[in-house]
Amino acid sequence: MRLSQFFVPTVKEIPADAAIPSHQLMVRSGMVRPVAAGVYAFLPLGLRVLQNVIGIVREEMNRIGAQEMLLPALSPVELWQRTGRVEAFGETLFHLKGRPLVLAPTHEEVVCELARTHIASYRDMPQIWYQIQTKFRNEPRPRSGVLRGRQFLMKDSYSLDATPEGLDRAYALHAGAYARIFSRCGIRYFVAGASSGAMGGTGSQEFMMESESGEDVVALSTGGRYAANMEVATSAMGASRWTPDDAPVSEVHTPGVRTIDELAAFLGVTHDRLAKSVVYQGGGKPVLVLMMGNDLLNEAKLASVLGTDVRPVEAERLRSLTGADGGSIGPVGLRGFTILADERLRGGCGLVSGANRNDYHLAHIDLARDCAIEGYHDFRTVQEAEQAPDGSGPLRIARAIELGHIFKLGTKYADALGATFLDERGAGAPVVMGSYGIGLERIIACHIEQHHDADGIVWGASLAPFDVQLIAVGGRSAAVAETAEALYSEMGEAGIDVLFDDRADTGPGFKFKDADLLGMPCQVIVGERNLAAGQIEIKERGTGRRSLVPRAALTANVKELVTRKDEAWNQ
Ligand code: ATP
Ligand code: MG
Repeated sequence: MRLSQFFVPTVKEIPADAAIPSHQLMVRSGMVRPVAAGVYAFLPLGLRVLQNVIGIVREEMNRIGAQEMLLPALSPVELWQRTGRVEAFGETLFHLKGRPLVLAPTHEEVVCELARTHIASYRDMPQIWYQIQTKFRNEPRPRSGVLRGRQFLMKDSYSLDATPEGLDRAYALHAGAYARIFSRCGIRYFVAGASSGAMGGTGSQEFMMESESGEDVVALSTGGRYAANMEVATSAMGASRWTPDDAPVSEVHTPGVRTIDELAAFLGVTHDRLAKSVVYQGGGKPVLVLMMGNDLLNEAKLASVLGTDVRPVEAERLRSLTGADGGSIGPVGLRGFTILADERLRGGCGLVSGANRNDYHLAHIDLARDCAIEGYHDFRTVQEAEQAPDGSGPLRIARAIELGHIFKLGTKYADALGATFLDERGAGAPVVMGSYGIGLERIIACHIEQHHDADGIVWGASLAPFDVQLIAVGGRSAAVAETAEALYSEMGEAGIDVLFDDRADTGPGFKFKDADLLGMPCQVIVGERNLAAGQIEIKERGTGRRSLVPRAALTANVKELVTRKDEAWNQ
């Protein structure tokens, strides 16, 4: 491709709305242009990268025996009503005006409907179906360029099995394929235990990349063995010890005491004797959750226990429900609430909590004796430096970007849509499903986040839009122009993808800057002085290493360089 004819609208200035390097560089290098908030056009250079990503994803999905199909983006809203996901997606789901259709944000419903109509027997399974297709999500804060768009390409796949063991196999195949995809795309990633969220299901893992600009928070053990999204992360807290306390509940006057720290100081007790109440609204009754001391409740864990979204109850409503303000609320004698407690408080006695009366607390609470606790669960938010639950060292809390997600859905969708089959004994059973997604533009943005410097993008060989940028400097020299033209065809014939900066009216300084910005792995520079000595210069973008090669050996040298890099990614 000749740069003089190629539509690559590069810009020098950093776009005002672009806060992260990948967003800045994708716009500056002319790969993409915004069309609306969270909606991007992929220009020719960007599309070449996207096609490289698609090629890798397709190869790895085919390798595990997945079959490619293409499902429509328009989806009957009725299917989504039947699985309850019109509410679950809420504002994120794009509805069409005047037609009972939505723009699909994912495809479990459509796949499950296909399974319902066409999978009749256990003999029809296992199946793994995948597609590479546009998804639509009305993201509330589309930001960071293509990292979070309102329209984006996803590789989504779905496994259909007769048994949970079959699902385990399909899930493991995907975990393997994902590891290969992200390694081949040159991304340093880790796998984290994750919450199934609004998708429902029995288990899931996220493929993540550590990044300051990530919207997810993860807990990682320093040894690197444990990694989990904060929504499910736990730490080794050890069982709580309780000393029997037969004293009856008694009221303590605690004037002006609002916080747990103040209460501990006022009573002269340790934090583990204090049960703090936090109140949330879920689907039904308000929920009071007891946490130990200053332990922070994790809303995602609560939402997953309740199976519905939750929000904290506002101060005013709290007062009308309990008769007290935030710091004085407690579980004893409280009616009209679902009362839950954190796992650390299991078996708790001799505890202090709010009296539902401002400036008063209750002491000597025995949870089993004095409160109607409906369940103990892990609701706690883990903290930096706590020990990983698997003994792999202290935890570090970091921000991360989700690259891909694999879910064991189980029979949730099959149950909702009636997708059943006849098992070996001729009995009807629901299809066991898995669902697996990867954001394709997000792979590109993440690759750039990890592979760039102050001058521009530093493409890894597998995603690079071209292998080589060929630069002719000294435009007036006929020898330079002729040699550059000859090398352009020679390299092309040798199967090397070359972007030829043949612009006659552009100075060497601009050409070098553009080549660094666009970031092809290898630059071949034809200059007057070197050429007079029969030499051509090669610059490796990643290391900045320069070498001079005899004209006759140039193509062979470049070929070697490009192939070596390809193999490194392909291992
Ligand atoms: P996130 O938490 O980042 O919103 P998600 O949990 O909604 O992601 P999934 O529904 O699991 O994501 O979608 C599968 C994959 O699609 C994600 O792992 C991610 O790579 C990609 N993806 C999701 N939302 C977007 C988006 N708005 N823009 C670009 N890619 C996205
Ligand atoms: Mg999302």
